[in-house]
Amino acid sequence: MAKTIEQISAGGIVFRKLDDRFDVALIARTSPRRRVIWALPKGWVEPGETIPDAALREIREETGLTGRLLEPLGQIGYSFYSPEDGARIQKTVHFFLVEYLSGDTADHDHEVDEARWWPLDTALAQMTYQSERQVMEKARHRLLAPTLHQSS
Ligand code: ATP
Repeated sequence: MAKTIEQISAGGIVFRKLDDRFDVALIARTSPRRRVIWALPKGWVEPGETIPDAALREIREETGLTGRLLEPLGQIGYSFYSPEDGARIQKTVHFFLVEYLSGDTADHDHEVDEARWWPLDTALAQMTYQSERQVMEKARHRLLAPTLHQSS
C-alpha cells in the first residue's frame, strides 16, 4: 500500500464591496482532462511561515491581490495520489476571510491560467469543489452579518 504524506496549505476568500454586492476572487486552472477548474487561491505553508502569512502570500501570488486578513473560515481536507511523491497526499487547507486592499488580477502568477473577480453568488455557482463552496457559504454568511468589522 502507498505511504501517506500529510500536507498543510493555506488560502482565502478575498472580497471587495461594491455598491450593492460583494465580489470575490477565484482562480482558474486546467485539469489533466482539459476541464477548467475554478477554485480558491491556496498553497503550501513554507517552513518557518505562519498559516495566516502563507494564506496572504498565496493569495498575492495566485490572484495578484493584496489584502487584510479578517478572520479564519475553518479548514477542509482531501486526499489524492501523487505520482511524483509515489504517495497518497492527505491535505488540510486553512482558509481565511480577506478584505481586498490593492492589486490587479492581471498580475497572477504563471501557476494559474486566470484570476478573476466574480459576484459572490455567481462564484458559488462557478466553483468546482463542494468543500470550497461550503467555505464560500460561510464567508457569505459572515459578509452579510451586521457585526463584521470592515475598514470601508
Ligand atoms: P498546490 O501547490 O496549491 O498545493 P497542487 O496542484 O499541488 O497545488 P491541489 O490543488 O491540492 O494541489 O490539487 C491536487 C489534487 O487535489 C488535484 O487532483 C485536485 O483536483 C484535487 N483537489 C484540489 N482541491 C480539492 C478540493 N477542495 N476537494 C477535492 N479535491 C481537490
